Amino acid sequence: MSTGKTILVVEDRNSSLKLFQDLLDNKGYAVVPITDGSLVEDAVLRHRPDLIVMDIQLPGKSGLDIIPALKIHPDTRSIPILAVSAFTMESDVARIMASGPDAFMTKPFNILDFLKKVAELLASSDSVKKAV
Ligand code: MN
Repeated sequence: MSTGKTILVVEDRNSSLKLFQDLLDNKGYAVVPITDGSLVEDAVLRHRPDLIVMDIQLPGKSGLDIIPALKIHPDTRSIPILAVSAFTMESDVARIMASGPDAFMTKPFNILDFLKKVAELLASSDSVKKAV
């Protein structure tokens, strides 16, 4: 069953990308996979996803540089971003949050928590769209 929602998943590690794709596909979300940070901004403008799941450590361009760029651009700033990273030191998490994502989860994550967060972020972007 399709939800009509598209989620851009930015993840360079194959096993993690496959897990994200399986989980989201199973819930009826269309997934656009991206494995190189330098391709994200073009892909977001092309696909207009409803949500972006964003790894931080990436080839090409870091999530710490991509997130602020998306949050400044008028065409992309309303798209919610869920940052995911294996960095768990407090200073790393603070740096990631300062880059401007809507939410953050550490890897590995609890699957139910991840899907709940995805649903919450999609619901919040729906309410923003309705308000506009
Ligand atoms: Mn990575």
